[in-house]
Amino acid sequence: MEAGPLVNIMLPLVNSFKKVEDRMKDKYRHIFEPLVVGNHVIKNRIIMGSMHTGLEEGGQEDFSRMGTYFAERASTGIGLIITGGISPNEEGALDGAIFNKENQVPRHKIVTDAVHNANEDTKICMQILHSGPLATSEELVAASPVRSRIGRLVPNEMSLKVLRKQIDDFIRCAELCKKANYDGVEIIGSAGYFISTFFVNKTNLRTDEYGGSFSNKIRIATEIVKGIRESVGEDFLIIFRIPAMDMLEGGMSWDEICTLGRALENAGVSIVSTHFSWHESPVPTIATMVPRAAFTSVTKRLKKVVNVPVITSNRINMPDVAESVLANGDADLVSMARPFLADGKIFEKIKKGREDEINTCIACNQACLDHAFDKKEISCLVNPRACNETNLNYLPTTTKKTIAVIGAGPAGLAFSEIAALRGHNVELFEASDQIGGQFNLAKQIPGKEEFHETIRYFSTMIKKNGVKVYLNKKVQPIDFIGKKYDDVIVSTGVYPRSLDIPGSDEKIVISYIDAIKNIDKIGKKVVLIGAGGIGFDMAELLSHGKKNPSTNIDDFAEQWGIDFTNHPRGGVTGITSKASKSEREIYLLQRKVTPLGIALGKTTGWTHRLSLRKKEIKMLKGVTYKKIVKNGIYVSINDQEQFLECDNIIVCAGQEPARSFYNSANNVEFRMHLVGGAFEARELDAKVAIKQASELAAVI
Ligand code: NAP
Ligand code: SF4
Repeated sequence: MEAGPLVNIMLPLVNSFKKVEDRMKDKYRHIFEPLVVGNHVIKNRIIMGSMHTGLEEGGQEDFSRMGTYFAERASTGIGLIITGGISPNEEGALDGAIFNKENQVPRHKIVTDAVHNANEDTKICMQILHSGPLATSEELVAASPVRSRIGRLVPNEMSLKVLRKQIDDFIRCAELCKKANYDGVEIIGSAGYFISTFFVNKTNLRTDEYGGSFSNKIRIATEIVKGIRESVGEDFLIIFRIPAMDMLEGGMSWDEICTLGRALENAGVSIVSTHFSWHESPVPTIATMVPRAAFTSVTKRLKKVVNVPVITSNRINMPDVAESVLANGDADLVSMARPFLADGKIFEKIKKGREDEINTCIACNQACLDHAFDKKEISCLVNPRACNETNLNYLPTTTKKTIAVIGAGPAGLAFSEIAALRGHNVELFEASDQIGGQFNLAKQIPGKEEFHETIRYFSTMIKKNGVKVYLNKKVQPIDFIGKKYDDVIVSTGVYPRSLDIPGSDEKIVISYIDAIKNIDKIGKKVVLIGAGGIGFDMAELLSHGKKNPSTNIDDFAEQWGIDFTNHPRGGVTGITSKASKSEREIYLLQRKVTPLGIALGKTTGWTHRLSLRKKEIKMLKGVTYKKIVKNGIYVSINDQEQFLECDNIIVCAGQEPARSFYNSANNVEFRMHLVGGAFEARELDAKVAIKQASELAAVI
């Protein structure tokens, strides 16, 4: 029956009277639907996925910090949290985080108590991570002594006795987890870690009952699950991360993945979690250049094969994406790991209809995974409070000040948002017509579209917190004489370094800022001087074709050589990447003799390098710049002179601090603080700028 005119008028009216939380329950109907798993009720469908924090290997104090970190997130009402990975034994340890002794139970109870006290409905499972060939211990073991492409050591060969010890250690670890009041465990059986080395020919050369046929290859997984289930009983959650597309040439076939899923179900898992790619596979799966929710179609196929609930993940960072994945029937649960670092209150904001206030994960990996791989404590580029909940707090000020902030780039914005939140009067002056600073350039780079979200976040928060913003206002210290400011924050950023090469004033030489702003006017042959983050970004922008691999899943599959539909072995076997060669001829140059892009992020640098190689960008190192002329540049490489003819030379040679305000402020009455690039341009990035500004705003 069609709705009558009265209904059409009344319905929006009725909706507007509904409490906001009820409206959100309608809008995100699938997210807020509880899920019954055995005797457990998971209150909603977004879970906080596993993310190594660097605190797992610590003692009492680190576990207290971890407890506070998780409790903050639990208090927002999320249904399920999975901890960072912890090994069941010495052999599998990655960073020294092991849970194999009774006397370690109390420190884990700090975490489980913190979570359950914050919200009795939130479940917490510990991830059991046996790293196999990626372990750092000399005692490392794997299915066979085959070194991982990214591993440091060749794993030791395992006798049957040693293999069975590994199984027992998993079971023992799960028993200890139960004693520590975890609601369950997640076993990682993917990514190239211990269990997954049994599943594929490449790493399983065994001739006993754990190698050979596929049923033998998955025996270890089912024995671990069966053993845990028998030991911990029916009420304990067992989640198993399955390699749903391992991205290995000759990797697992789709039939094998289905067989594994069914076997795990029969063995007693409560939930199957789909994981994509081994760490050693040359396909990006979580970097910012991966389209949002790119892999959920694979989960959807597996969901049809097993009867237990299925989790999906990867590049799902906002509630509308999660809702559409669930509504589309792709998965029963959506795992978001990094988004809970970027914003500990993300779930509360979803519940309360404050999506504009979500500090979105931009998938940069710069403060989370890059730190984890560098053995540093992790945090988040856009939220330096992540994992610092006990030592970085934005408490109301007891001494209200009036503060001027000069420059609305990342540092100025972070400072303004937090200082105003704490109760200070903050006035923000920006010389250009928009806030965002260098983020406005970054967001134009293909694969960095997420920076739009960061600007949206800051724009919402400075307004909400009452920051007065003055755009198109280039201020000088003289403008502040006789004004009421207690403190002035100089976040004036950086300016591009100019070249000291003869001929640098030729018309073909332009800065990267002008190049980004006038990209359509750049010619067909281009030389980029400087191969840091910005040189790489410029090369990506200039070589971008008609396809959009960072936002379109089909284009992404084509660029990286993945077949999501037919799913050949590993999802990649026999598929050649159809990345197209750049239409522009581009030279990316540096003076250093080290490989280009070596200083880019540990977990993402290889994707940038590979992307440019696929587009046939000419990357040259050890270059000496001789002279620029009106149609090119003379260089020498290995004492060989060359002339690179080109239409444009784009300078990406780093930055200098922009300090003209600071340097001209003599005898002023206010206190000045330099932050971000204006403080130090060397090794500056948004992570450093936001962290420094946030820490200052927390104490001023
Ligand atoms: P950068 O990383 O310092 O790179 C500057 C480049 O210019 C280097 O390749 C350097 O190599 C060259 N150079 C320096 N002085 C030069 C001179 N006088 N003449 C010619 N070449 C010179 O700076 P950036 O690329 O501007 O990046 C700025 C910051 O933003 C960096 O911290 C970067 O990490 C960050 N960022 C990061 C990303 C990312 O993807 N993570 C992206 C963009 C920006 P040689 O000295 O060997 O020639
Ligand atoms: Fe996301 Fe980057 Fe923060 Fe990691 S550091 S959580 S990738 S925004």
